[in-house]
Amino acid sequence: MATTPVAVAESTVPILSHWIDGRSVEVPPERTAPVFDPATGAVIARVPRGGAAEVDLAVSAARRAFPAWRDMPLIARSHIFFAYRELVYRHREDLARLISRDHGKTFPDALGEVMRGIETVEFACGLPVHLAGMNTPVVSTNVDTHTLRQPLGVAVGITPFNFPVMVPMWIYPIALACGNTFVWKPSSHTPGATQLQAELWQEAGLPAGVFNVVYGGREAVSALLVHPGVDAIQFVGSTPVGRHVYETGTAHGKRVGAYTAAKNAMVVLPDADMEFTADSAVASGYGSAGERCMAQTLVIGVGDAADRLRPLMEERIQRLKIGPGLDPDVDMGPIYSAEHRAAIVEWIDKGVAEGAELVADGRRFSRPDHPDGFFLGATLFDHVTPAMEIYQEEIFGPVLGIVRVATYDEALALVNGHQYGNGTAIFTTDGGAGRRFELEADVPMIGINIPIPVPAGYLSFGGTRGSAFGDLKMRGEDGIRFFTQQKMVTVRWPDPGLREKLSLVFPGNS
Ligand code: NAD
Repeated sequence: MATTPVAVAESTVPILSHWIDGRSVEVPPERTAPVFDPATGAVIARVPRGGAAEVDLAVSAARRAFPAWRDMPLIARSHIFFAYRELVYRHREDLARLISRDHGKTFPDALGEVMRGIETVEFACGLPVHLAGMNTPVVSTNVDTHTLRQPLGVAVGITPFNFPVMVPMWIYPIALACGNTFVWKPSSHTPGATQLQAELWQEAGLPAGVFNVVYGGREAVSALLVHPGVDAIQFVGSTPVGRHVYETGTAHGKRVGAYTAAKNAMVVLPDADMEFTADSAVASGYGSAGERCMAQTLVIGVGDAADRLRPLMEERIQRLKIGPGLDPDVDMGPIYSAEHRAAIVEWIDKGVAEGAELVADGRRFSRPDHPDGFFLGATLFDHVTPAMEIYQEEIFGPVLGIVRVATYDEALALVNGHQYGNGTAIFTTDGGAGRRFELEADVPMIGINIPIPVPAGYLSFGGTRGSAFGDLKMRGEDGIRFFTQQKMVTVRWPDPGLREKLSLVFPGNS
């Protein structure tokens, strides 16, 4: 298995452009980086490496567009969202093909991603209702009060490689619906579907400058974190970068939410339906080659659960078809980059060195017809323990570990004691055990016999501990709170008949 990408002549691949103020902003080839097809290792495009200059252009365009967008009547704004929803739905397969090509995930999986993204666009269509405030008459004599939700200004989304459509669609519809303008800094590894999203906004009637895209890595992000024209940032990605974004952004007076790494565990009780649980564990652990923040990468078997579950998982792993994501009938595509594939191989080596039992070894897998693709097989470890690094750290690849404990309480203590807390699940046929788990698990997103408990698009999404920084989650009610400033207005219209004497006493509400 070769992991060195195959270079092709620069002149033969398309060069992507930033999208600023409603038009493409081209860059010279020397300011670009390669984009790889993970199934072949070939360079398929070049993506701009933006920096402070492009960030300033985009933020300035967003600031100029802000007053008119903020003041657009809510129903007129909402009509643009309905139009965008229709366009995204019409182009769902185009978007899915671009995701699959750049990321490697299978086409049906990519289509599922697009549909879960559309859910949040649909939520945003109801923006006039979401932005409603409270109105309480007569809080004091002749005094009424009401609240307003107003936009913050320019909002930024910094997004990861693994969901190039869904994760941005969990951020920008809410930011825009609230009346903010937006600058998106997508991942440079999977940029194919980005341009289409910008063009569809334009086709939907979004005014120029309201939605902008700047490509780039550390340089672009650093410029966004300190730019005085940026008011709010939502970041999704790894924990070290998320912590940096949160600390630097908030130190520069911005509202920041960062949603980061995960190591999700599914607890399996001895009474679980083991065939169903094995399907769920394998689907969750190896779907999208394990490159999902909600993948269950640890299976915590209680009592004899692991003894019965493991052979069923092994059978399923042997049957997995691994190949290019755009090939029909493939279950699992390649890893998104050669570097990440090499890092996952190192994790498997480490797991062996740490003493975990290697049940299925993905390092052995190859696709002779795709010798330069970044393929890896499904890997299963058993007898993983909390002392091991493969237990503690996120691997973000097709590597699942079975942990064995004697009791439910031990399993719960592992879930609650992990440095990450994004999602978790319990598999059981006992309703009482499921109810206990939902009350006792210190993780915000919980599945009961659901292995990837991503909440519906109108609910909030986010983790705890090392999986999130900031007080609010993204999307749903928290998303509306995050992207608005709430004002509390206290009103009295002078009534000559009720005029009181001048008083310097702090006014009470009576
Ligand atoms: P990443 O942290 O490498 O990149 C995320 C974003 O930050 C990208 O836009 C990237 O260009 C930028 N970036 C990368 N390095 C940077 C640096 N040094 N300084 C400034 N910006 C930088 O993450 P990734 O590899 O693209 O995505 C995988 C990670 O994202 C995993 O840890 C996964 O768990 C996490 N993730 C979390 C969620 C969630 O909701 N919690 C969802 C999806 C992915």
